[in-house]
Amino acid sequence: MKLLLNALLDLLFPEFCCLCGSFLFLDHKVIACKKCWEREFREFKGEKCIKCGHPLSLLPGKGHLCKRCLEEKREFYFDKVSYYTLYEGLAEKAIVELKFSKLKPLAYQVGREISKSLKVFINENHIDTVVPVPVHRNTLKERGFNQSEEMLKGAGVHFENLLEKPIYREKQSSMSFKERRENVRGLFKLNGEVKGKRILIFDDVFTTGATVNEISRLLKEKGAEKVFVYTVAYTPLRSYK
Ligand SMILES: [Zn+2]
Ligand SMILES: [Zn+2]
Repeated sequence: MKLLLNALLDLLFPEFCCLCGSFLFLDHKVIACKKCWEREFREFKGEKCIKCGHPLSLLPGKGHLCKRCLEEKREFYFDKVSYYTLYEGLAEKAIVELKFSKLKPLAYQVGREISKSLKVFINENHIDTVVPVPVHRNTLKERGFNQSEEMLKGAGVHFENLLEKPIYREKQSSMSFKERRENVRGLFKLNGEVKGKRILIFDDVFTTGATVNEISRLLKEKGAEKVFVYTVAYTPLRSYK
């Protein structure tokens, strides 16, 4: 029945791949065809800075540290950060599109794509609980869903909504890490027990890392043993000194 309905939708509202232009047959609201997803949404396999996760080849420092972490002696509350891919190309297109055009099926699609890699990370790090970064209820009302939750559903990964974002504060993309760190301070609330647990914070994009760092601070303060971060995409610095 669903197949028939989708076939009918195809005829009435044809959709095309945003990259190669081919007809998206029975594949709604996922913006690209299967071949383009396979070819363009690839896992980043390069070495990552052990502190901030930055691709080392783009910002070489010393050993397993990037130049910035080395020079600024940066410290974060999370113990390890990883991600599926870099925030560019199809990954960037998909994440922007699913948020602004409110495409839930696209969030599932992203989840399906990262599923294997995310599950490996969860097993390797003996994660007890996965928590998606929450959105404020105004955003939820406007968008209709929390993209991180839908991605986890698509990935088939069990999660717990232990976090809440009761305060709404505008995100400023021009802010530095320090400004963002002040801006996100106290924005989140924890509803649940994390004492002695290994927690994984899941989000769509790692930009300055201020949000996940603030959540990590809260989790550690409440007794979490280790805090890990996994995002779909990572934004490398455009320039550094
Ligand atoms: Zn295509
Ligand atoms: Zn680094």
